[in-house]
Amino acid sequence: MVPIYLDNNATTPVDPEVLRAMLPYFTNHFGNAASRNHAFGWAAEEAVQQAREQVATLLHAEADEIIFTSGATEAINLAIKGTYEIHGGGDQHIITCATEHKAVLDTCGHLEKSGASVTYLPVNREGLINIKDLESAIQQNTVLIAVMYANNETGVVQPVAEIAAITKQKGIVFFTDATQAVGKIPVDVNQCGIGMLCLSAHKMYGPKGVGALYIRRKNPRVRLTAQIDGGGHEKGMRSGTLNVPGIVALGKACALCATYMPHESLHLKELRDKLENALLSIDGVSVNGTPAHRLPHVSNLSFSKIKGNNLLTEISKTIAVSSGSACTSANPAPSHVLKAMGVEDGVAKNAIRFGLGRFTTEAEIDYTIQKVTGIVMGMKA
Ligand SMILES: *Cc1c(COP(=O)(O)O)cnc(C)c1O
Repeated sequence: MVPIYLDNNATTPVDPEVLRAMLPYFTNHFGNAASRNHAFGWAAEEAVQQAREQVATLLHAEADEIIFTSGATEAINLAIKGTYEIHGGGDQHIITCATEHKAVLDTCGHLEKSGASVTYLPVNREGLINIKDLESAIQQNTVLIAVMYANNETGVVQPVAEIAAITKQKGIVFFTDATQAVGKIPVDVNQCGIGMLCLSAHKMYGPKGVGALYIRRKNPRVRLTAQIDGGGHEKGMRSGTLNVPGIVALGKACALCATYMPHESLHLKELRDKLENALLSIDGVSVNGTPAHRLPHVSNLSFSKIKGNNLLTEISKTIAVSSGSACTSANPAPSHVLKAMGVEDGVAKNAIRFGLGRFTTEAEIDYTIQKVTGIVMGMKA
């Protein structure tokens, strides 16, 4: 059974059904979707069109509102830089949030160097932005509001419908990074009035290296400039030969999520709650992120009464989890997400993210409860 994989927010395995769907597009149907004058091209183009419809269906969007990209990071760059550029660049204003993924924060940082001004909305202890803060941050020159749907570290779901209502009233484009939400909870771009939205296949049981940007076509139409120029693929919004097998896989992954979601989300919530409640019974353990608005399969826990700094190391010997730290250096810095929520550095360093997924079993959760409890009790200060 070990090692157990509970890091599904970092990436998910490819569902065998998704793999089966994509394989023929490497060999038999290897055509270039842009080849207009022979059957190989037509087969590829038809498969891409079906995938576009599958992605759109999951989002309640139209197929021609979906642009395929290499993943969420690229879609985020296109959405933010493309919006800034079409409004003339310069000192245009963007509103985002302190707990966004680095792909959003670093893209905004890049534009700040080009002269953009950016407001980073704070979050409360529970990880939520305050709608009043958002309203008062809006300026005459605000061109974009970028607030994520669900957070990758805590699973906290932001009030996207309320944000969208404000942006619509003010005539500002709303972009949401829904990489963690799509396929896990219902996402409806029309019900929520979302202007742009990104997703990534490898967070929803598809392969790495493919994703999509939803761009609203009406009520109102969202305009932006391309960031990758070339052959004019994807209506000129993203040039480059289409990754047909990856796109087919993303379409299939979306279709499976639509089918499985009602049952899967309940099942994972049950397992997550079992794990969380068992670990919360240990003294000094607390949840990071509001339990009221959270993805069903994520639990981010702080272990505050721990001796030493190697809780993650001990757990990771048998269970793949993620820490509350950016493990990019020898001396890990506390996560910017937990920091923004006001979690103390010492506590944030001993935060663990458990991310359950489609293939998590109850036996694995039972093992995890037993193992983590043993380790924590042994390290108690
Ligand atoms: C994983 C992730 C990304 C980046 O997605 P890629 O497809 O790996 O580029 C962006 N935002 C969030 C919230 C994520 O979880």
